[in-house]
Amino acid sequence: MPTIFSKIIAREIPAQIVYQDEQVTAFKDISPQAPTHILIVPNVEIPTVNDVQPEQEQMLGHLFTVARQIAAEHGIAESGYRLIINCKEDGGQEVFHLHMHLLGGRRLGPMLAKRE
Ligand code: AMP
Repeated sequence: MPTIFSKIIAREIPAQIVYQDEQVTAFKDISPQAPTHILIVPNVEIPTVNDVQPEQEQMLGHLFTVARQIAAEHGIAESGYRLIINCKEDGGQEVFHLHMHLLGGRRLGPMLAKRE
């Protein structure tokens, strides 16, 4: 069952794609949580981090070099940014196609909401 991200990667539904190569696609998050909020997604559908395979290490490492490049292009390399990968329910994952959030352009605050 293809996810909405697979359809974006295949350009079957619209998105603001900022980068694409044979391994990954990056596009603007539809509900941005910071001035820069981009999702970097493997073109192959991996549901969660739990499903990652050793032979995918090179491709998954490529997510980081693409993140670095996009951060520089968006002018947030020096001010800094945060990379987030959510996994399953407790991690807050909503789309079950592994993806890295690239967030920046403002002070992002603590990594997690403080416990009550
Ligand atoms: P996560 O909670 O880590 O699974 O993140 C899923 C992200 O996908 C959320 O930040 C959503 O705003 C984003 N999202 C969902 N649908 C779309 C879409 N069609 N285009 C761009 N971003 C989307």
